[in-house]
Amino acid sequence: MNTNWVGRPTVRLKEVDSTNETVKRYASQGAENGTLIVAERQTAGKGRRGRSWESGNGENLLMSLLLRPSFAADKASMLTIVTAMAVCRGLERIRDEIRKQKNGCREQEACLPAVRIKWPNDVLLGTRKVCGILTELMLDGEGGYYVVIGVGVNVNTRYFPGELEEKAASLCREWGRSVDREAVMERIWQEFEAVYGQFLADGDLSVLREEYENCLVNRGQRVHVCRPGAEFDGIAGGIDARGRLSVSSEDGEEILVDAGEVSVRGIYGYV
Ligand code: ATP
Repeated sequence: MNTNWVGRPTVRLKEVDSTNETVKRYASQGAENGTLIVAERQTAGKGRRGRSWESGNGENLLMSLLLRPSFAADKASMLTIVTAMAVCRGLERIRDEIRKQKNGCREQEACLPAVRIKWPNDVLLGTRKVCGILTELMLDGEGGYYVVIGVGVNVNTRYFPGELEEKAASLCREWGRSVDREAVMERIWQEFEAVYGQFLADGDLSVLREEYENCLVNRGQRVHVCRPGAEFDGIAGGIDARGRLSVSSEDGEEILVDAGEVSVRGIYGYV
């Protein structure tokens, strides 16, 4: 991969339980910042809150990055937003490349759904989920911590099992051609280096915020916030400098919703 530090080293494996769990095992043996695990298949792919990530063998991208940041651990939750932004930019670049190959024909352009973000951690094509991101913070037992960022991208899946058929997208299906996984991986991590660099320079999401909000599918939409013990409906706004989603509740109160504690659903469905 043509990157500066992400993927140094890259470890490619045929089958793992979960790429996040594999990174944790490498980390406990001293693996360095930037180590990337890429697998062809997961037997126990993970989503947030015990959910699972499904992926066919050898069709998609299943990868996890090890970060050993020097900033305070309470900022690590913002890395989910950083990663979603990077995936969005990376997929946009691939989309632009495909569009150019199709001669920029307007009709074709309309056929390539835009890349959007569903706050905080899902990347969509149109209204269907094409990528899930799972960020985990781990204490290293010596007073420090490390972060594992798992990224699953549906690249060349043609058929999804069961209910996923309704809500999942793949690049291949939506863009009408099979897509080079290596190119997608490289674009994503190149963009990650840029977005992460900006985040480190600013110490928060204040500069990245506007770009993220422009990709946000929830913005201005009615959403249902499922917070343990307190569910409510409201209208989603943008994010604050820490990545919290602002939701105006029905009685006009503005509530900042933290990514760790909730799922946000559209009133009429997934988005
Ligand atoms: P949701 O996406 O349901 O709002 P979430 O952001 O917490 O919730 P994740 O943890 O990112 O979800 O991912 C797990 C969920 O994603 C699963 O519950 C399943 O509905 C969905 N999912 C699993 N595999 C795929 C896939 N390959 N493509 C798209 N969606 C998937």
